[in-house]
Amino acid sequence: MLVCGAGVVGASVAYFLARRGIAVTVVERSGVACAASGKSGGFLALDWCDGSPLGPLARASFALHAELAKELGTDYGYRRMDTFMLAARERGALTGGHRVAAPPWLDGSGVVTATLGSTETTAQVTPARFTGALLDAAQARGAKLHIGVVGDVARRDGAVAGVMTADGQTLDGDAVVLAMGPWTGRMAARLSLPRVYGLKGYSVTLAAPDVPAHALFVDYRTSDGRALEPEIFPRPEGEVYVCGMADPAPLPESPELVEVNEGSCAVLARAAGRVSTALAQARIVRRQACYRPVTDDGLPLIGRVPGVRGAYVATGHGPWGILNAPATGLALAELVAEGEASSVDLRAFDPARLRAAR
Ligand SMILES: Cc1cc2nc3c(=O)[nH]c(=O)nc-3n(C[C@H](O)[C@H](O)[C@H](O)COP(=O)(O)OP(=O)(O)OC[C@H]3O[C@@H](n4cnc5c(N)ncnc54)[C@H](O)[C@@H]3O)c2cc1C
Repeated sequence: MLVCGAGVVGASVAYFLARRGIAVTVVERSGVACAASGKSGGFLALDWCDGSPLGPLARASFALHAELAKELGTDYGYRRMDTFMLAARERGALTGGHRVAAPPWLDGSGVVTATLGSTETTAQVTPARFTGALLDAAQARGAKLHIGVVGDVARRDGAVAGVMTADGQTLDGDAVVLAMGPWTGRMAARLSLPRVYGLKGYSVTLAAPDVPAHALFVDYRTSDGRALEPEIFPRPEGEVYVCGMADPAPLPESPELVEVNEGSCAVLARAAGRVSTALAQARIVRRQACYRPVTDDGLPLIGRVPGVRGAYVATGHGPWGILNAPATGLALAELVAEGEASSVDLRAFDPARLRAAR
């Protein structure tokens, strides 16, 4: 069994397959969590996807995150959080004061406008460490990691026979899961898969110890009038993560070629500094960019690749890939092992619902 891609989705699929005793090889072009799964927010919410087909997947995943934090036996920053909405401006202060009780560390010029979640409904992980913990646990149960660039799916008589790598190797396998994030789209035309795109975003991490576990969603205006929605997540390891700033730049060939725009990162760091004086003084530790995988209808592709026996896909999780990786991995392992997913209904995510890319 081959899993292509060692982002959070591939690592989760590999973990749940290995937990069932299935022999898995994960094929990754660069490194574990080298793309969005190592650079994203890691914010988790129980009920923010309710009312959409993602609702049950998110609820199942939120519960699985709590179970995995115990089961994997590794500290990867899982904790529950309180979550607030703020309004802030790059220049000038808003009038009227906080509308709900505000934590003391939010002592900048922002106004706390609402409580969005509590420790019952919101949580976080540090995504790179979570992805690494899943893959380590899969490897502890016999899974293997192979570094190589997947070029195509090898087929024999309409069924999967393995994958071909860019250096000319064929890795044999009777089933293949494509979990290469936005790069899964590069295979879409060759298989009957719908389009998968990459949507670029920036993030910075700030050195700021002792910031409480409060996630912030900010309605922000820059001094030149741009409306942005930065998200701010303090992490238990003493850094505060800030992300936002969508960029239409096209997806490069590999994660190493993703370019970081210093100006976009500076805007994010300044926004954080407007809501808290502790963040205004904090040193920037990392400036980074990554692409989330998105589909035409905003829902992930989780299920069988039409027309190729033994081929499966798990990608397109958009802004909720870290949240929804656990239930995706569990359901896909059930589909592969038993022919059907029993833990969640995958029908809304069936790749066959969308027109194929070619
Ligand atoms: C700025 C930002 C903030 C985010 N914040 C959150 C958040 O707070 N909460 C949340 O739930 N989600 C969040 N997300 C979304 C989440 O990060 C993604 O949905 C998720 O990481 C996607 O995981 P993936 O495994 O599908 O893809 P990726 O992480 O992109 O992994 C794909 C892997 O496949 C590998 N690969 C690519 N091509 C090949 C090939 N040909 N052969 C072999 N390997 C290959 C890549 O190297 C990579 O390791 C955020 C996203 C962004 C951009």
